[in-house]
Amino acid sequence: MASPVPAVGDVLEEARRLYRQTFGSCPQVEVCAPGRVNLIGEHTDYNDGFVLPMALALVTVVVGSPDPGRAVTIVTANQDVEEPRRVEFNLPSDGSPLSPGKPGWANYVKGVVQHYRAPPVPGFKAVIASSVPLGGGLSSSASLEVAVYTFLQQLHPDDGDAVAKAVACQQAEHTHAGVPCGIMDQLVSVLGQEAHALLIDCRSMEVTPIPLSDPSVVILITNSNVKHSLTGSEYPARRKQCMEAASVLGRQSLRDAALEDLEDARSRMDEVTYRRARHVIQEIQRTVRGSEFLKKGFYEEFGKLMVESHNSLRDLYEVSCGELDQLVSAALEVDGVFGSRMTGGGFGGCTVTLLQAHAVDKAVLHIQERYSGTATFYVTTPSEGARLLSR
Ligand code: ADP
Repeated sequence: MASPVPAVGDVLEEARRLYRQTFGSCPQVEVCAPGRVNLIGEHTDYNDGFVLPMALALVTVVVGSPDPGRAVTIVTANQDVEEPRRVEFNLPSDGSPLSPGKPGWANYVKGVVQHYRAPPVPGFKAVIASSVPLGGGLSSSASLEVAVYTFLQQLHPDDGDAVAKAVACQQAEHTHAGVPCGIMDQLVSVLGQEAHALLIDCRSMEVTPIPLSDPSVVILITNSNVKHSLTGSEYPARRKQCMEAASVLGRQSLRDAALEDLEDARSRMDEVTYRRARHVIQEIQRTVRGSEFLKKGFYEEFGKLMVESHNSLRDLYEVSCGELDQLVSAALEVDGVFGSRMTGGGFGGCTVTLLQAHAVDKAVLHIQERYSGTATFYVTTPSEGARLLSR
C-alpha cells in the first residue's frame, strides 16, 4: 500500500519536541517548505527551458529562535545524515564568507545564510525535521534551503521577492553543496500552489499555474530506494554537453534551438552531444504540449508524453537505470495508468505515474510484485509552497 504522507503537523511536533529537548524552551518561529515532483520537463531547467513540477505535501520544517550575538546552532532530526547532527558556527562579523565544511548537510544551511538577501543575519538556534525522503529525487535539499530562507525572513525580513529568494537558494546549492542545479526545485518550493502544477519558464522565470485537482486522477510517486553513485559526476557532465551543443548551434542555450537546427548541425558534433541535445529540445516541446493537455484534462495524451519523456531520458540522455526502467514498465502494465516516467536527476530516486484513482491499489501491488527492490509509494496532491506555520 502507498505510505500515507505524514501530516505537516506531525513533522512540526517532531521539530518542536527536539527543540525543547535541545534548547529547553519553545521555538519562536516555525516555517516549512515543500519537496517537489516534476511531472514532465527533465533536465530542461538549466537549458532555459520549461518544467512542469508540483509542490508536495512532504515538507521540511524549520523551527527556531533568534539568539543574541553571532552564534548559530542547528540540529537535524534526520537520522540519515552524516554525523554530527548538531552543528555550531559563528557568523563572520567582517562580512567574510561562510565556508562550507563538515558535516555536508550543514552546508545547505550555511549557503542560505551566506546568500540571504537582507544581511546581516542575526545569530539563531534552529531544529530541522522533514518528511521529504533524503536523496530520493524529491528535492529534500531545495526544501531545506527554502525552509531556512523562509526562517531567516522571519528573523530579519528581506524585500519579499519570491523569485530572488529561489535564486538565492539555488546559489546556496551551487557554492556550498557543490551542485550546479537549475532553478526548478527552489522555485516550486517557494511558489507551489495547492491543486496546481506549475509550468515554469526557466528563462523568464514566469510561472503559470495549471489546475490539477480532478479527483478521478491520482499522482503516484514510487521511490526506487536506490541511488547510484554516478549522480554526482554525471549531472555536471550533462550540463557541459548541453552547453557544447548550444555553442555548436551558435545559440545561447538549447531553448533557442529547433530540431531542424540540430539535424543540420549533426555532422559538426559527436554522437553523444547530439543525443543529449535532442532530448533537451524535444523535452522542452513535450513540456509545453503536456501543460496544455493537462489543463484540458487530456490525461491519455499527457500520459503518452510522460512515456516518451522516460524513453528519451533512458536512451538519449542516459540518466535512467535498471530499477527506474523496471518501475516504469511495471506501472505501464496496469489498467488505468495513463503514463509513467523517471523524475528528478536520475540514476535512482523516484518515478511519477499518472493514473485513474480507482487503479491505485492495484498499481501499487503490481509494481511492488514486479520490482526487484523494495519500493516506497506516495499518493500525492499538489500543495502549497513555503509558508509560516501558525502556532
Ligand atoms: P534530494 O533529491 O533529496 O534533494 P540531494 O542528494 O540533492 O537529494 O540532497 C540531499 C541532501 O540534502 C542530504 O544528503 C542532506 O545533506 C541534505 N538534507 C536534506 N534534508 C535534510 C534534513 N532534513 N536534515 C539535514 N540535511 C538534509
